[in-house]
Amino acid sequence: MLLTLTTTHRPATDLGFLLHKHPERVFSFTLGVGHGQVFYPEVSEERCTVALLVELDPVELSRGRAGQGSGAPLEPYVNDRPYAASSFLTGALREAFGTAMSGRSKEKPELVDQALPFEVHLPALPSRGGTDLASRLFSPLGYRVEARVLPLDEQYPEWGDSPYLDLRLYGTVPLKALLAHLHVLIPVLDDAKHYFVGEEEVERLARFGAGWLEHHPERALILRRALKHQRDLLRLATAQFGQPDELPLATPSLNAQRLAAVEAELTASGAARVLDLGCGEGHLLKPLLANAQFREILGMDVSPRELKRAERFLRLDDLPPTVRARLTLIQGSLTYRDARLRGYDAAALVEVIEHLDEGRLWTLERVVFGDARPGTVVVTTPNAEYNARYASLSAGDTRHEDHRFEWNRERFQAWATRVAETFGYGVTFKAVGEVDPSLGSPTQMAVFSRDTP
Ligand code: SAH
Repeated sequence: MLLTLTTTHRPATDLGFLLHKHPERVFSFTLGVGHGQVFYPEVSEERCTVALLVELDPVELSRGRAGQGSGAPLEPYVNDRPYAASSFLTGALREAFGTAMSGRSKEKPELVDQALPFEVHLPALPSRGGTDLASRLFSPLGYRVEARVLPLDEQYPEWGDSPYLDLRLYGTVPLKALLAHLHVLIPVLDDAKHYFVGEEEVERLARFGAGWLEHHPERALILRRALKHQRDLLRLATAQFGQPDELPLATPSLNAQRLAAVEAELTASGAARVLDLGCGEGHLLKPLLANAQFREILGMDVSPRELKRAERFLRLDDLPPTVRARLTLIQGSLTYRDARLRGYDAAALVEVIEHLDEGRLWTLERVVFGDARPGTVVVTTPNAEYNARYASLSAGDTRHEDHRFEWNRERFQAWATRVAETFGYGVTFKAVGEVDPSLGSPTQMAVFSRDTP
């Protein structure tokens, strides 16, 4: 991965003093999982360019990455990280230009706070939010932004766009500020960090965000992404960067609201024996286990990997035997009739239907409503209309790459109404999450109850 920085300040070679890197030398350094080099491809009084080149070792990189990423077997070894500008690059930035970032210069202290003309080039920058988000992040800081979406393959334009940008920024800013902007915003565009994000990340944001992040119009998005959407950290950062009511932090996460809404419906149904169909790693199973009303809980998923994760997430081995005995985890597919699912009081399908091809949904309908026939069925799915509120989604995108479809409210309600009529259930609809007056809520929920006992 590569970053170049050019100045046309006269004499441009002052850049070397500011960065504490001599233009005639190559500076090499090692990183935890690779190495970096700083060199100057262009040096004159008029223009001086410094390049930061980072090379990662994919094998080193793969250590500790099991269970992350797409789940494809080779993903830990074959992925974009060696090539795309990410938190590895910003880590290298700190390593290579730490002195400049802290605003010290032995030879040219007078230049440290002086705004100088710069051009930045990031030839492969992953952006969840495309060119639009790049502009929204950098323009308010005074940069002219030139961003081009890179095709997946230059030779086959018909394959469409990649999630990477070729980004150029032009601006007159102090070098120290420029490096701080890049340090904070590159991982925000990528919406990922390779290291564990803990409290020291809030300190780092306070340090590099000082003087600009407090007032940035996209501050809420920047904090959310920079802190990997972790609520405790967001709260901590909110104390530093603004009033809590200006940030969407006061309410529990959508995921937490969804689980609470589903649990409330299952509780209200009076069910004692419940199914969590497509249980994933067990986010709903956890509160169900904690609720003694649910005497028998069956979690089913098609993916053995998710079931393994559920065992870990729920700490099955550490549960008291009486609690452990209430839970069964099974592997199976909701597209095949399954006698193990019969005779339950209630079932939850939380964010599952959108993982099936629309053309195969009828098989799930038959299996759940026709054959297993629990008294109550709670189904949640994204409301596609609400996607307009997500900065990182372009029109027509789904929230997750595994989603085969996302429905608007009308489409979901038409589906649920037809299913209810076909299989002898009544159905009601509820909003989950903050309700937008015209778009509705982020999650939509249908609660089915069987007509005959
Ligand atoms: N309900 C969980 C997981 C939602 S993700 C939660 O809310 O956290 C969707 C889950 O459905 C995944 O774990 C996926 O493995 C599972 N799934 C997809 N198709 C399935 C099928 N045909 N049968 C059973 N589970 C399926």
